[in-house]
Amino acid sequence: MGCTVDFRATGDDRGCYYEETHRCLIFLNSHENLEDIYKTINHEVLHHCIEGTDITIDELQEEKLIFNIQWADYSIA
Ligand SMILES: [Zn+2]
Repeated sequence: MGCTVDFRATGDDRGCYYEETHRCLIFLNSHENLEDIYKTINHEVLHHCIEGTDITIDELQEEKLIFNIQWADYSIA
């Protein structure tokens, strides 16, 4: 099942992913520019992608995994 990305003008967080509905919610007011918004979309979609795998990791491990994926271009180079 695919996921959807939805936007809100205001919110307390940068974004969130709802496993129940496979929906990413992005709060635009918490970003400085378009590139920043793209990063958050990628982050939330990665939560969806990880959910679709067989791996069992806790929330902190998942956040660390996504962080490392997002920075892989810089850390590997
Ligand atoms: Zn996250």
